[in-house]
Amino acid sequence: MAHRKPHLPQKPCAACGRPFAWRKKWARVWEEVRFCSDACREGRHAKARLDRAAKRR
Ligand SMILES: [Zn+2]
Repeated sequence: MAHRKPHLPQKPCAACGRPFAWRKKWARVWEEVRFCSDACREGRHAKARLDRAAKRR
């Protein structure tokens, strides 16, 4: 049985640690991509911390 499976590169997300696979939209920037999604790239947690710090002041 010759079942073709596309062999896509993968790497772990720098934010959540989950492995994510190559996507067509990253074809040009794959080596620079570090996060699996926009949410991880924006760093929700870091942002929340900044918001709290801002409210403190
Ligand atoms: Zn992620």
